[in-house]
Amino acid sequence: MKYKEKIKAFWNWLLKAAKWVMKPIIEDFNFFLVMWFINCGVTFGYLVGCFYIDGNHWDHGLRCLALGTFVSYILTLGLYLCKKRPIKMVYKSIIYFLVILLEATYIFVNLNFEMGIGARLFTLLAETNESEASEFITTYAFATPSLITYGIVVAIIIVVALAEWLKDWFIRVAHNKVMKIFLTVLLLPLIIFGAYYSHNYVRMATCKHSKDLSNWVADFGTNALDNVSSVIYSFSYLSTSKADVNQAIDVAREVYKTPIEVTEQDSLNVVMVFGESYIKSHAALYGYEHNTTPYMIRERDRGNLIVFNDMISPYNATSTVQKNFFSLNDMTKNEYWYESPMFPTVFRHAGYKVYIWDMQREYQKTELYTISVNAFLYNDTIAKLSYDEMSSIPFKYDGQMVADFKENSKVQPGKHNLYIFHLKGQHVNPGYRYPRGKGFGVFTADSIHRNEDYVTKEVKDYIAHYDNSTVYNDAVMKAIFDIWRDKNTVVVYLPDHGDEAYDFRDHCGRQGGTRAEPDYFHCDNDVPFVVWCSDTFIAKHSELVQQMRAAVDRKGVSLDVSVMLLRLGGIKTKYYDATRDISSPQYKPKKRIVYDKYDYDEVVNKDKEKTKKK
Ligand SMILES: [Zn+2]
Repeated sequence: MKYKEKIKAFWNWLLKAAKWVMKPIIEDFNFFLVMWFINCGVTFGYLVGCFYIDGNHWDHGLRCLALGTFVSYILTLGLYLCKKRPIKMVYKSIIYFLVILLEATYIFVNLNFEMGIGARLFTLLAETNESEASEFITTYAFATPSLITYGIVVAIIIVVALAEWLKDWFIRVAHNKVMKIFLTVLLLPLIIFGAYYSHNYVRMATCKHSKDLSNWVADFGTNALDNVSSVIYSFSYLSTSKADVNQAIDVAREVYKTPIEVTEQDSLNVVMVFGESYIKSHAALYGYEHNTTPYMIRERDRGNLIVFNDMISPYNATSTVQKNFFSLNDMTKNEYWYESPMFPTVFRHAGYKVYIWDMQREYQKTELYTISVNAFLYNDTIAKLSYDEMSSIPFKYDGQMVADFKENSKVQPGKHNLYIFHLKGQHVNPGYRYPRGKGFGVFTADSIHRNEDYVTKEVKDYIAHYDNSTVYNDAVMKAIFDIWRDKNTVVVYLPDHGDEAYDFRDHCGRQGGTRAEPDYFHCDNDVPFVVWCSDTFIAKHSELVQQMRAAVDRKGVSLDVSVMLLRLGGIKTKYYDATRDISSPQYKPKKRIVYDKYDYDEVVNKDKEKTKKK
């Protein structure tokens, strides 16, 4: 019998504890409901989406709901603990104001810019100065989405006021015995799990760099967080981003303390052309049925262009590739971009004059990807340590940017020069990437001989535009070769990633490109990679050129090309690693991991393996 009594005593104790935990909710029921529904609005929206959106997962939604419920509970507990009426009033007003302000902000940015409360919003706010803010207010204050926002916010305030007015009724309802049981069964598990998940805040607060925070995001996810948790995450994002750039600055300064030597006795130009969204299979250079690369083919046939056949990009997002390409970090050693110097910094320390003309510096400037790249590449200190001259104005077409460089560059070239061009390439929408009426409209829908069901006239138009923008890209490359044709020059061309232009399914662009299937990888991750050498360069560097020619079939990862640039520039530095340089006899090909998790070669060869087994 003793055993039964013990169970009963324990059960009574549990009931008492549950009652004790639930007390703040029961006593300020209207307040809790407002906190719960407004603060967790995004989470509820996500949960509703679980019924019809493929990418929404119940377990993730419920985890976030537990956390959001716990946050709402803590806010209500705060009110419950204020015993004196005036203090209660002050507390209530402040919390109502903040929670409604957050929700108003969420609705405002969501309707105006399709963004939520998160890292992007906070980064923009942190970067906005007074004049931008006043310009913003005059532009958006009376825009239709803003007027809708005001309407919704007024409605929310009316509901909150009403709930406050009917407070006694709410509390009476909560005290009803059945209701009490219902609320306890519904909320208590959420609060308990939420309390448990709140340890994530501690882990988040201890994230020093984006490396740590991105691990956190991978584990917990941010897309269904309640408003308060989103704010906490955003502050963490801001602080880790700042820490990243600060470390990158220290690393750049460190470069200037290292010994460095240039072995090239003659004057030399190294030109790095960083392309954009180039689908390798659309290059005639790699066997495409349309001649999209007439100039590069001519250069190849003359013996000036070395064409590498097996280069891949490990990501299909520009900013990720760009940061890790400019930095000399070795991702196979889990080094992050802010932990190693950028190749332009090393070139400049070696005495090179460094020029950068960038089509994408001004492109979608309010998107997190542009902001995060610019914060690194164009940080004042890093830029001072890395470049002698930078382009300053945006251009419509890549060719205009190259022409601007030719006509308007003001810094006299030195004996050794590094020129960096960052193109817009064939970025979606490719129809906007080449000028009309200048002879680049080579292909039309009629030239596209495809007969899959989904290949409509519009699809053929799109493919034709893509091929025309590839033709234009080829002409831009010719313009670059021509600038330095009669000098000792080496030009490297490499795009950031591939793309999709209805190549194997009814789809264009890179969304959903992370599926581990051969077709996806071939489109998004295979990239052209060529090295153009002027006649002088070939004559003066016969061994290097011969080694490059011998390396064209090696398996490569695009992020390692920045290491090869050091060799092309004749730079002797501790940052050069021959095992990563595809042109070096010491090159060691490694497992090619894409999107941080898939073995590229395993995925693209799996079909071949299957047929072999049969
Ligand atoms: Zn890109």
